[in-house]
Amino acid sequence: MTEIDPTKPVLVTGATGYVASWIVRYLLEDGHTVRGTVRNPDKSSGLEHLHALAAEHEGRLTLHAADLLDDGSFAEAMDGCELVIHTASPFLLGKVRDPMAQLVTPALEGTRNVLGSVDATESVKRVVLTSSVVAIHGDNVDMVGRGPFTEDDWNTTSSVDHQPYPYSKTVAEKAAWEICAAQDRWDMVTIHPGLVLGPALTTASKSGSMTTMRTFVNGSLAGGAPDLRFGLVDVRDVARAHVLAGFTATAHGRYITNASSMSMLKMGRILRKRFGHSYPFPVAKVPKSVFKLVAPAAGYSREFVEKNVGYKLEFDNSRSIDELGLTYRKPSDTIADQFQQMIDDGLVHKPIGR
Ligand code: NAP
Repeated sequence: MTEIDPTKPVLVTGATGYVASWIVRYLLEDGHTVRGTVRNPDKSSGLEHLHALAAEHEGRLTLHAADLLDDGSFAEAMDGCELVIHTASPFLLGKVRDPMAQLVTPALEGTRNVLGSVDATESVKRVVLTSSVVAIHGDNVDMVGRGPFTEDDWNTTSSVDHQPYPYSKTVAEKAAWEICAAQDRWDMVTIHPGLVLGPALTTASKSGSMTTMRTFVNGSLAGGAPDLRFGLVDVRDVARAHVLAGFTATAHGRYITNASSMSMLKMGRILRKRFGHSYPFPVAKVPKSVFKLVAPAAGYSREFVEKNVGYKLEFDNSRSIDELGLTYRKPSDTIADQFQQMIDDGLVHKPIGR
C-alpha cells in the first residue's frame, strides 16, 4: 500500500511527449501540481500546449531542463515529489540509423539515470514507468500455440538488430525492476500500452504513433496493407492509466493497457467508413510474399515480415480494469478522433470536392 499525498508535486519526465502531454493535462485537471521535465524548456516551438496548460492552471505547472543522458539532471525537479511518472524514452519506428545510440542507450541509461535520482530523493514513494506491450512480447509469431499475452510474459526474442525499439523497452524495464528490488523505500508500477493512437495535444511529437497514422494519408498504403496486427489503445486512456497507477494505493506490478488488437486493413476500413473513399486508405491486403520483397524500402526487415505478418495477437487487459478501474474507449472512435484532429490541424489535406 503506497499512499501518495495529492498536494505534493508530481514529476513527469518527457512532458512534451504525445502520451506525457495528456498525463500532465489530467494531473492538472485533477488538481495536482506538476513538474514536467523537457530537454530544452527555452525552445521556441513544441512547448506551446504546455505553456497554455500552465496559463490555464496558474502556478501548478513548471518546466525543468533534464536529459536522459545527463546524469543527475532530473534530481532538482524531483526534490519534494512523492510520485514520479517516467515516460521519456524515444519511440521511433521503421528504419533507425543507429539503434543502440538512438533507442537502447537513451531508454536504458535514461531509466538508470532517473531511478538513480529516485534512490537519492527521500521524498519519492512511487514510480510509474511507461513500458509497453513490446516488453511483454517480441514478434507476433510468439503467439502461436498459446492464449493471450499477460503481465507474466516477457519479450525474449528482440535484440538490438531485430526489433530494436521493443528491445530498448525490455532492457529498460528489466533494469528498472532490478533497481527497484534493491531497496524498499519506493515501489514501482509499470504501464504497458499497445500502439497508442488518438488526438494529440501537440503537433511536435515524433512518436511512432504519429508516423503510423501518417501512413494512412501519405499514400503509402494506397496499394494495400499487409495483414499486420498490433495492440491499440487511446492516448487518453493510457494517460488516465498512469494517473490511476500513481494514486491507487494498492496498484502494483505490471499493467497491460490495451483496448484491442487490430490490423492496418481494419483501421483502413474504419477510416473509410467515417471519412469516405477520397483518402488513400488501404482497401486490399498485400500478400505476405509481396510485402517481404518491398519491406526493406519501407524500413522493415524481411525477418520482421516473416515473424509478424499474418499472425493473430491478443493481450489480457483485465488487471487494468479490475485493479486500476480503467475503462477503454472504442478503438474506432480513437482512430477517427485522431484522423479528424489531423484534418483540423492541417496535417491532412481534404481531397478535392469535399
Ligand atoms: P514522444 O511523443 O516521442 O515522446 C517521447 C518523449 O521522450 C519526448 O518528450 C522526448 O523529449 C523524450 N525524450 C527522448 N529522448 C530524450 C532524452 N535523451 N532526454 C530527455 N527526454 C527525451 O513519444 P510517446 O509516444 O509519447 O512515448 C512516450 C512513452 O510511451 C515512451 O516511453 C514510449 O516508449 C512509450 N510508449 C509509447 C507507445 C506509443 O504507441 N506511442 C506505446 C507504448 C509505449 P523531447 O521533446 O525533448 O524530444
